[in-house]
Amino acid sequence: MDIKAMPVASPDLTHEQQAFREAARDFAQSEIAPFAAHWDAESEFPREAIRKAGELGFCGLYTDERAGGTGLTRLDAAIVFEELAAVDPSTAAFISIHNMATWMLTSHATSAVRDHWGPKLASGQSLASYCLTEPGAGSDAGSLKTRAMKDGDHYVLSGSKAFISGAGATDMLVVMARTGEDGPRGISAFAVPADAQGIGYGRNEEKLGWHSQPTRSVSFDGVRVSADHLLGREGDGFKIAMKGLDGGRLNIAACSLGAAQGALDAARRYMGERRQFGKKLAEFQALQFKLADMATDLVAARQMVHTAARKLDAGSHDATIWCAMAKRFATDAGFAICNDALQIHGGYGYIREYPVERLLRDCRVHQILEGTNEIMRVIVARHLLNTEEELR
Ligand SMILES: Cc1cc2nc3c(=O)[nH]c(=O)nc-3n(C[C@H](O)[C@H](O)[C@H](O)COP(=O)(O)OP(=O)(O)OC[C@H]3O[C@@H](n4cnc5c(N)ncnc54)[C@H](O)[C@@H]3O)c2cc1C
Repeated sequence: MDIKAMPVASPDLTHEQQAFREAARDFAQSEIAPFAAHWDAESEFPREAIRKAGELGFCGLYTDERAGGTGLTRLDAAIVFEELAAVDPSTAAFISIHNMATWMLTSHATSAVRDHWGPKLASGQSLASYCLTEPGAGSDAGSLKTRAMKDGDHYVLSGSKAFISGAGATDMLVVMARTGEDGPRGISAFAVPADAQGIGYGRNEEKLGWHSQPTRSVSFDGVRVSADHLLGREGDGFKIAMKGLDGGRLNIAACSLGAAQGALDAARRYMGERRQFGKKLAEFQALQFKLADMATDLVAARQMVHTAARKLDAGSHDATIWCAMAKRFATDAGFAICNDALQIHGGYGYIREYPVERLLRDCRVHQILEGTNEIMRVIVARHLLNTEEELR
């Protein structure tokens, strides 16, 4: 593709970013869109499509090139995730979580672990899960109880994790476990091969959406990992987990943008086709206004996500706050836009023949995971009340 020859449709994006968008859109149309409804209906994990995404560099988008990644920015990654999610938010979101875990491992692992796993993960040949949540520790993740006891040149992990995306289908688990005192400072992060002895997997949870990726509990019963699989230093785990989530929240927000764009496009098409009272739906001003509001909210959410991504790329001290605001805003807007698109489809929106009900089901969980939207408000409010900084 001749990047320089491309029209500048979005003046705030570079020619390269528009090229990534085109590449992601082409891939989404050819390798995901034709199969997404089937994967959803059959709860089929699209391993082969994810491998092909890896060939394009989508499995290590913002992982450093020296670790085998594509070495792009968070904004570039958000652009790619949005395009993939426009046809299949579930598969896009799995790829985004894999990207987050891959970045965490390659940024904090010992060189031996990074060199062994980095290229495999970034190419999509191997896949990773992020293991923070526990049955008794969700929003209050700092209270997690999974233990990692030092035993010579190994750590021994015991405990259990809940709601782990991809679990059972992934090869590497990035696990947060307690090595010290109560609270966030006693937590460390580990790279744990998913087939290590003593790891057990629960049943695939039956969910409202996200059917194309498994969600399972994971138990650790005396799992031994070599001490060089510690990420960072002892006690760094919670910080590493939260740094991972800054990017993760942007990615999930971008997946909501994609779902919303897919739903908006479907509603627009449908309004031009469906006739009632002798007119096209497109002629009813009430629906025109709804469509206009949907588009306005989507553009505002996209600006918010891109601004937060630029903050994270620039290493701004308040990037975490911006990522939390963007995640809250874009995931709420994304769900509302999908819901309005479903309403515009009337009864047809509720049946599987049209894609809107799947987009709606898939993006509902974005308001819950990687920190619920209530927790995003906690992060923003804490900043507002504890500092005098303006958010600009
Ligand atoms: C499909 C799916 C996939 C997931 N994938 C992963 C994964 O890959 N890895 C992983 O580690 N986790 C994963 N999660 C877990 C997810 O991150 C948690 O579900 C989420 O953080 C919320 O925790 P909880 O479910 O225990 O809810 P709780 O923490 O029990 O919260 C219940 C309600 O109380 C609210 N609440 C809690 N505390 C406060 C507060 N201080 N102020 C106001 N409201 C509050 C919450 O916002 C929520 O509405 C996944 C979850 C789902 C559903």
